[in-house]
Amino acid sequence: MDYEAVIGLETHVQLKTKSKMWCGCANEFGAPPNTHVCPVCLGLPGVLPVANEEALRLTALTGLLLNCSLPPYAKFDRKNYFYPDMPKNYQVTQYDKPSAVTGYLEFEFNDSLARVRITRAHLEEDVGKNFHFDRNSGVDFNRAGVPLMEIVSEPDLTSAVMAYEYLNALKDILVYGGVSDCDMEKGMVRCDVNVSVRPKGQSELGAKIEIKNMNSFSGVRKALDYEIPRQIEVLKSGGKLIQSTRRWDDPAGITEEMRTKEFAHDYRYFPEPDLMPFQPTEAWLEEVSRRVIELPLARKRRFIRDYQLPAADAQTFVWDRPLGDYFESIAKQAKSPKAAANWVINNLRAKMTESGTTLADVKFQPPAILELIELVENGKISSRIAQDVFTEMFSAGESPAKIVEKKGLAQVSDTAAIEKFCDEAIAANPGPAADFRAGKTAALNFLKGQVMKLSKGKANPALAGEILERKLKAGMETGN
Ligand code: ADP
Ligand code: MG
Ligand code: ZN
Repeated sequence: MDYEAVIGLETHVQLKTKSKMWCGCANEFGAPPNTHVCPVCLGLPGVLPVANEEALRLTALTGLLLNCSLPPYAKFDRKNYFYPDMPKNYQVTQYDKPSAVTGYLEFEFNDSLARVRITRAHLEEDVGKNFHFDRNSGVDFNRAGVPLMEIVSEPDLTSAVMAYEYLNALKDILVYGGVSDCDMEKGMVRCDVNVSVRPKGQSELGAKIEIKNMNSFSGVRKALDYEIPRQIEVLKSGGKLIQSTRRWDDPAGITEEMRTKEFAHDYRYFPEPDLMPFQPTEAWLEEVSRRVIELPLARKRRFIRDYQLPAADAQTFVWDRPLGDYFESIAKQAKSPKAAANWVINNLRAKMTESGTTLADVKFQPPAILELIELVENGKISSRIAQDVFTEMFSAGESPAKIVEKKGLAQVSDTAAIEKFCDEAIAANPGPAADFRAGKTAALNFLKGQVMKLSKGKANPALAGEILERKLKAGMETGN
């Protein structure tokens, strides 16, 4: 019997706010332990939380980016459990009235478009972080109370790779929207992986097994690559799977059971009495909707469609948004947007990387790239010389035409001059000349290269080719 996997993800993302969720402490990674704390985020008695408005906006914005609806009424609840990294002994979250519901996320997968439904996106708070030393343990509350958004997917994912691609697409959207930096190294994205298997064709879902607290996308993929075959193996050998929670042991490369359903927590959720329910006004929603950006995938498709770019170039302009914007500022006037993209990606980006500079430091105006392309297309300079002109443009900021004039780089289209170079090249390379005459047409390129060298790159290559060919063929007739 064939089995298939069913996967749903609960993704936790730290929001990009200046301050924490309920107090004014900085939301900042990497400060010395317990320096961003106050009575509110330390859970001292008698304090009152004030909801961070920007966190609410970013959650609503995420809802819009993920095609969700934003309910007119959302509220916060207390999720009660005891753990040393959580000073209040409850976490404030949104239980049954989340900020965003029923959306979807689309991403490229297996050469087509995958759509995963989003159940909800809700707002909660992060907890502190425990550290274990040789003889004692410590807890850092800098992270306690940092705004944390949870995005829950429907069980629409069917493989480890698909889950991995979903997470990457989600991350791209959140980074694009300015919702979160999604810096994995800093633990800004964490994920609970729910996975079950069932006989292919069966509509009923199998027992849900949850792998908790994954902190890397590749970890999620590896854990699923282990867990799916494990579950199938249990069923195939006549065993039974029960709803349970497991953890991923990365060094060992296995999942292991933590608890089964009968030992599941009872969180005793109840409405947070210290916070008003949240009812967004039209004006508030309008303000949030103005922050909606073009999604990465939409941008990629638009670049391919409007500028006839190959997918790889379009993807480069999605990942490097400022570079893409730079390209767009000249692409509309470009006769060949692809040529402009080549200059921007292969030359401009390379030079910036090499010199450790950014677009803000570029000395020439963007249309100079079009001017340069034009010089090549009109036969004024060779593409070889264009490289030198670009280097000069980049270091001095002068216009390409000016550089060509100043340095005397204009292409030689004067036939007499090229004839002379061709004669020299043939005379100096009797071997390749004979090869060409014997039918090895590739030898012409070598000779052409020699002509370019003799002319210091200035001979019009097309003309050089024609003249060389004519001379070599004439030589055949006269036996020279
Ligand atoms: P809980 O209330 O225990 O967190 P939910 O039903 O809300 O469980 O689901 C949590 C996540 O698990 C969601 O992403 C959902 O898509 C996924 N999920 C639910 N049932 C299954 C299943 N049988 N197999 C795989 N994933 C599932
Ligand atoms: Mg869960
Ligand atoms: Zn605080």
